[in-house]
Amino acid sequence: MGKRKGYFGEFGGRFVPETLMGALDELERQFSIHRRSKEFRGILLSYLKDYVGRPTPLYYAENLSGRLGIRVYLKREDLCHTGAHKINNAIGQVLLAKFMGKKRVIAETGAGQHGVATATAAALLGLKCRIYMGTEDMKRQGLNVIRMKMLGAEVEGVVSGSRTLKDAINEALRDWVSNVRDTHYVIGTVFGPHPYPTMVREFVSIIGKETLRQIVQKEHSLPDVIVACVGGGSNAMGIFYPFIRRKEVRLIGVEAGGLGIPSGRHAARFASGKTGIFQGTKSYVLQDEHGQILSTYSISAGLDYASVGPEHSQLKETGRVEYTYATDEDVLDAFHLLSKEEGIIPALESSHAIAYVVNHKDELKGKVVIVNLSGRGDKDVDHVLKHRREAHE
Ligand SMILES: *Cc1c(COP(=O)(O)O)cnc(C)c1O
Repeated sequence: MGKRKGYFGEFGGRFVPETLMGALDELERQFSIHRRSKEFRGILLSYLKDYVGRPTPLYYAENLSGRLGIRVYLKREDLCHTGAHKINNAIGQVLLAKFMGKKRVIAETGAGQHGVATATAAALLGLKCRIYMGTEDMKRQGLNVIRMKMLGAEVEGVVSGSRTLKDAINEALRDWVSNVRDTHYVIGTVFGPHPYPTMVREFVSIIGKETLRQIVQKEHSLPDVIVACVGGGSNAMGIFYPFIRRKEVRLIGVEAGGLGIPSGRHAARFASGKTGIFQGTKSYVLQDEHGQILSTYSISAGLDYASVGPEHSQLKETGRVEYTYATDEDVLDAFHLLSKEEGIIPALESSHAIAYVVNHKDELKGKVVIVNLSGRGDKDVDHVLKHRREAHE
């Protein structure tokens, strides 16, 4: 396969209708111009600093470290404005849209987190914003719907199909095809057709750049291990990217193991997925023998997705990153452990990475381990309570 543009080994590419090819070419061209321009970089950096709150701290979790016998550091993306790493990408893309002369951004959202991040960036930068969301998801994520509306976004309920994320993606694509002249489509993770996986990686890799500088300052050496949860793969790619060349650092991606792999109720693409083409790109996909996309399940909505960013598929094939999963049960234990030990309520997504460290504490004894704490868990407290109650019924 060689080094074809927009490919990561055999993964990636651009599998979209002809009508979108022009828009993707234009996006690629504009991104490559502005990412190097002093003006764009200056404005983006100043928003990341004064609006998002970067650099986020690299926090030595002393209590947890003592308990596990590991030197655990947390990269505090939970302290970003809006509570997770997603805002870094949203501001990058909405600012780029503005530089491209677009007047309007659209996005699709499942759990609502990417919708809120996009609506926030659009409010900040003065662009119109429409968010597509399945009506089933709107029912489950009422608070995020209210937040998006308060931020001035239009929330368009999607009633086709299963009324969830993949139907919302189809609607957003339809909108983009008809309004491509004045509209930018903000994708929320390192997924979709080229140039999105590369562009989003660039916007989130500030996480890893800061981490590298911070850990060398604190430990005077590189970490032994970096752990991150993997949904679409943006927070993981963000923290891993600057370390990929540093072969002595083990990189570990943790997927949603749900109720366990044999149950079929999970979103562990690397545990039982196969290569396929889904939503514009070639990557690992959870599918049946006829190529039908399987339904997925996870306690955390942000990891509940049938495919994964194409660059992760390459990192899996080359073995540079080790991929594993954590089950809901272990994730809930990790959620409570971090809350009680450190006074930090983690997002259920991020709790997958904590669960990995807890489950491997013997093997990691004495090591320096960095966990990407991708978001805070305020959004999850209701869900965790409900889960508790159901477990006791
Ligand atoms: C959305 C989300 C994720 C999963 O998305 P990635 O693209 O895999 O990072 C992880 N953690 C939090 C807190 C999220 O909101």
